[in-house]
Amino acid sequence: EVTVRDLSKSFTLDGETLTVLKNLDLDIAGGESLAIVGASGSGKTTLLRVLAGLEEPDSGGVLIDGAPVHGLGKERAVIFQEPRLLPWLTVLGNVSFGLEVQGISRSEAEDKARHYIRLVGLGEFETAWPRQLSGGMAQRVGIARALTVQPEILLLDEPLGALDAMTKLTMQEELTRIWTEEKVTMALVTHDLEEAIFLADRVLILPREKGAHPRLIDIDLPRPRDRSETRFVRFRQ
Ligand code: ATP
Repeated sequence: EVTVRDLSKSFTLDGETLTVLKNLDLDIAGGESLAIVGASGSGKTTLLRVLAGLEEPDSGGVLIDGAPVHGLGKERAVIFQEPRLLPWLTVLGNVSFGLEVQGISRSEAEDKARHYIRLVGLGEFETAWPRQLSGGMAQRVGIARALTVQPEILLLDEPLGALDAMTKLTMQEELTRIWTEEKVTMALVTHDLEEAIFLADRVLILPREKGAHPRLIDIDLPRPRDRSETRFVRFRQ
């Protein structure tokens, strides 16, 4: 469970202060999937980075299960647009690496990694090298790597933004399946409103005008979701 209270964040550049997030309150329940949308520059990535502990807020803060967030901790895993795999490690090596760094033995780390590699549909590619993978496959490895550390919350910053349209649709289905099987809490930044509605329980819309209040919309559709229905919701907004 994630609690954001009275969160403000501004940046000062060349003597000018830009307030990006102002007095934001937000709760993300355990197992919930929240999408964050908004115009370019509305502060989506900034909010995700604050949730990740990569950015210190000016005031207010973030609690995960009641404990304040400071710096990057293993209860949060972040997935970026590009998965940034280590080229000198195989798929298995890339996914188990994070656990080995935590001091878990290699055989235990690899067993766990194999579970998540299978979950993202790459069971046949354990021994492949990053350069042999397509963009969608590499992103799946990134997702497996993030899940392997069993984070309290998975933070995704436009994870499908770099993929072609067809791969994107397939990966949206994959994310839904993974979310359903693992019951993981997710906060997902996306430019794609239809993707937000397909993947999320609630959508946070950050306003373009600074000082305006963000809107939070419940997506009241059964899962797994039907594409024709998610399109309908988009037109209703
Ligand atoms: P996009 O959709 O284009 O990725 P966004 O909604 O994710 O945008 P942010 O990246 O959070 O927006 O940026 C919000 C505003 O804060 C922008 O105007 C940006 O220029 C500014 N900003 C972000 N990080 C910094 C920084 N480190 N220093 C100064 N300004 C910053």
